[in-house]
Amino acid sequence: MSSNADLYRKLPSVDELLRHADLAAMVVSEGQASVTDAARAVLTQLRAEIAAARLDAPAVEVALSGISAAIERRVRQSLTYSLRPVINATGVILHTNLGRAPLTESALEHIRNSAAGYSNLEFDVETGDRGKRDVHVDRLFRKLFDAHVGTAAPGCPGEQSSPIQAAPVITTVLVNNNAAAVLLALNTLAEGGEVIVSRGELVEIGGSFRIPDVMAKSGGILREVGTTNRTRIGDYEKAINERTRLLLRVHRSNFQITGFTEQPQIEELVSLACKRSIPLMEDLGSGALFDLRSIGINGEPTVLDSLRQGVDVVTYSGDKLLGGPQAGMLSGRSDLIARMRSNSLFRALRVDKLTYAALEATLLAYVKGDHDAIPALRMMRLSREEIGTRSQAIAERIKSSWLSIEVLDGESVIGGGAAPSAILPTRLMALTCEGLSADELSARLRASDPPVIARVEEGRVLLDLRTVFPAQDEALVQVIRTIAQE
Ligand SMILES: *Cc1c(COP(=O)(O)O)cnc(C)c1O
Repeated sequence: MSSNADLYRKLPSVDELLRHADLAAMVVSEGQASVTDAARAVLTQLRAEIAAARLDAPAVEVALSGISAAIERRVRQSLTYSLRPVINATGVILHTNLGRAPLTESALEHIRNSAAGYSNLEFDVETGDRGKRDVHVDRLFRKLFDAHVGTAAPGCPGEQSSPIQAAPVITTVLVNNNAAAVLLALNTLAEGGEVIVSRGELVEIGGSFRIPDVMAKSGGILREVGTTNRTRIGDYEKAINERTRLLLRVHRSNFQITGFTEQPQIEELVSLACKRSIPLMEDLGSGALFDLRSIGINGEPTVLDSLRQGVDVVTYSGDKLLGGPQAGMLSGRSDLIARMRSNSLFRALRVDKLTYAALEATLLAYVKGDHDAIPALRMMRLSREEIGTRSQAIAERIKSSWLSIEVLDGESVIGGGAAPSAILPTRLMALTCEGLSADELSARLRASDPPVIARVEEGRVLLDLRTVFPAQDEALVQVIRTIAQE
């Protein structure tokens, strides 16, 4: 029997390992630091195994003969991407932790084409002059809004802008995300002055976006009115004074107030804002460009609804219901948007060419009316029957004596700050695996390649194919079969 000390002596030093021909080549291709780290880690592990008496002399010899391969595996692991694709089987379409909206094919192509080389991001090819990056998307937002909003809105109801005035009524600029859009708007319109908000709308959105905190950072002074459940137009009216700069309405996004409730209609706010010549801003959060009423979801206002009703500035996200890249949009009265553009914060919050490319492609799909090209919209529009058929087909292929699968009715969630009641009827695959608890099975699914993210409810693992791309069905089958075989 060799003592542990004898066994430790058999282990080479890191330097000796690195001089070995196999590793010397790896140092050239993968870099000294990664190979050194991996060699150290492998040696540490061997020492730990010797200390725990898990390796005898012959086993150490075997380990040493495979040490270059072990180090190489480790180097490969450490040099793969940390950010990687997963299969979203949760049925939550705009899942913030899973990257919200998947991009349309044309967006990926446009990112590649315009970002792999140079582009006219801020260059007017016709005149050779410097241009503005906003133009690439503003022109498309105008196509989506102008024809429908007309010349009266935003602003005071019934007030016609002069027909000679050629300037478009609605302008849109973008910043990094909607939180940035709200910050920029409040800072531009209300720094040093008061902003009136209903107590029922002082929300916190996931990732610590809190209206009172953003307000404080913007330099605006929060003037709360009403109560948590009831706020009337008279409450806003009474709070207006010479320091008031803005009326703010905030979409509640992730919660509902039911029962004894009251909230002024947007028309009432528009008419008050108008009468007192104070701008009205609405943080829509999700900001749908697509009317959810067509898929049976009511009560989720579109950006167009708000602009048409006369809201002066609307802010919303690019990667929620819009289905595009992360971005924050500010759409509204051109004079107010011009002030946002000239705020130095705008420069600090500006968006890069990848985002412009992705958003331009997404908006083009809207302009063409090609809603199915946008993955989040396509997923919302999938029928329960289509999902049921796919689920049944997969269930047939994977069921075994270890794994029982039932296809049953359930609900998918739109997520991403759409009203929490925004749910869609779906079909779910409920999995139970012999010898594994639901939590264990769900952990195995997450540990697979690619990781599969599922829901666990009432002791069962639930998979909702609404958020699984049909092209991923095969990979899903393989993952589940592999787990069942183990
Ligand atoms: C989601 C949301 C935000 C934050 O938007 P991001 O694009 O995630 O920064 C702000 N306000 C409301 C009402 C929201 O729903």
